[in-house]
Amino acid sequence: MVNIPGRIELANLPTKIEKLERLTEELGGPNIFIKRDDQTGSEISGNKIRKLEFSVKEALDQGCNLLITCGGIQSNHARATAAVVAKLGLASCLVLRSDKEEEKIDGNYFLDKVLGAKIKFITSREYKESRMEIMEDLKEQLSKEGYKPYIIPEGASNGIGTFGYFNAMKEIAQQEKEMGIKFDAVVIATGSGGTYGGLFLANKIMNHGAKIYGVNVCDDEEYFKNQIDKVIRESLEYIDEDVELSKDEINILDGYVGKGYALSRPEEIEFIHKLAKLEGVILDPVYTGKGMYGLINEIKKGRFKDNNNILFIHTGGLYGLFPKKDLFSF
Ligand SMILES: *Cc1c(COP(=O)(O)O)cnc(C)c1O
Repeated sequence: MVNIPGRIELANLPTKIEKLERLTEELGGPNIFIKRDDQTGSEISGNKIRKLEFSVKEALDQGCNLLITCGGIQSNHARATAAVVAKLGLASCLVLRSDKEEEKIDGNYFLDKVLGAKIKFITSREYKESRMEIMEDLKEQLSKEGYKPYIIPEGASNGIGTFGYFNAMKEIAQQEKEMGIKFDAVVIATGSGGTYGGLFLANKIMNHGAKIYGVNVCDDEEYFKNQIDKVIRESLEYIDEDVELSKDEINILDGYVGKGYALSRPEEIEFIHKLAKLEGVILDPVYTGKGMYGLINEIKKGRFKDNNNILFIHTGGLYGLFPKKDLFSF
């Protein structure tokens, strides 16, 4: 097997795989399973911790003692980073995107504060155009103050972070053996591409034969094909493996961005509410709610008619639901 970079153990692994019995029955199609990566921990919950296990190992190996990262105001990645920082006794600076005078202290942002993270706000324009430069400037400034900062890019979706989901795919293959089943498709919500990249790369190297689908929650198919291709190429620099890559093999289910990143449509909220009551599983509004809503719609359209078993990975995000409570009707 391929030699991948080392990690520090932070997440509760392996995460469970459960069958969604009533949803499967209702749809009358392939068996739908869910992998509970929302249960990788509580403060650290969600998919980002798998990536941080690798990024933070690299940071510590380089002697760094302060983590700089970025994200939206309700970033699950920023909150997981804040938790890791506190757990390991490091320092942090979270660069969060916000165009408001003042943000309501809620959800992930509330937890960032509780965890003692240092926060710097930038506008969405600054975020889009120059977040990397802003983090580089911070690094320089904090170095002068005596810290050794390490920058983790958005979502830890770079070469090193992507190994988190390389490992997750190996974990899935092991669980398939134990369960005596084979997943034809693995479906996730995609936001910065690292989760997809890791699953895709391991699937390819292991010759597993599953199809990996990403439901994009922002931008479009072309953006994600390029972004994922870039992330995978960065990962390949860490391993000694010849991999032929074609963007055509990257499957993006475009059409479910809705109103835009972190904005919800009533049908998405209704779907989250319905699934919670049907299966006792709560999805998040920014990623998994759109991801699974997309999957279900594609099943109804017949895209997965030749599949027996589909695995949807619940990548977390529950805290992001709290600031959206007013969108629910009870
Ligand atoms: C970040 C995130 C994703 C998307 O993962 P990427 O690797 O950024 O594509 C999916 N679900 C949740 C809950 C997330 O926080």
